[in-house]
Amino acid sequence: MIKYTLNCNNGHQFDSWFSDSDSFEKLREKGHLECAVCSSKKIKKSLMAPVVSPKKTETLLAKQSALEKEIKALKQKIKANATDVGENFSAEARAMHYGEKEEKPIVGKTTLDEAKELAEEGIPFTPLPWSDDKVN
Ligand SMILES: [Zn+2]
Repeated sequence: MIKYTLNCNNGHQFDSWFSDSDSFEKLREKGHLECAVCSSKKIKKSLMAPVVSPKKTETLLAKQSALEKEIKALKQKIKANATDVGENFSAEARAMHYGEKEEKPIVGKTTLDEAKELAEEGIPFTPLPWSDDKVN
């Protein structure tokens, strides 16, 4: 069974059940459909009401998984190109900034205080959008 929302040419709207979509067409062709309000036989299927929220959710989910993919790719890229200096991150970053060490991409851990110091000294670093290691 299929439920259709139907409209007559006078703008009345009502719901009706049909065994399938063909039976709606057949009944209409034979003039067996009429408006429950004004008995008009000019009946057509109402356009479906736009269903907003599920689509929105889908888009959101798609965006989310795209972002997750991006982060994953970024993570792999960093792992492939950067040296993991672990706890020594701020010391390494500082040494490179002041020319004590050759510059290279590094990744590691830092405390919030260390990060603040780095920022104050104008040492560029980017917080990564994930934390799979526990924060100090
Ligand atoms: Zn009507």
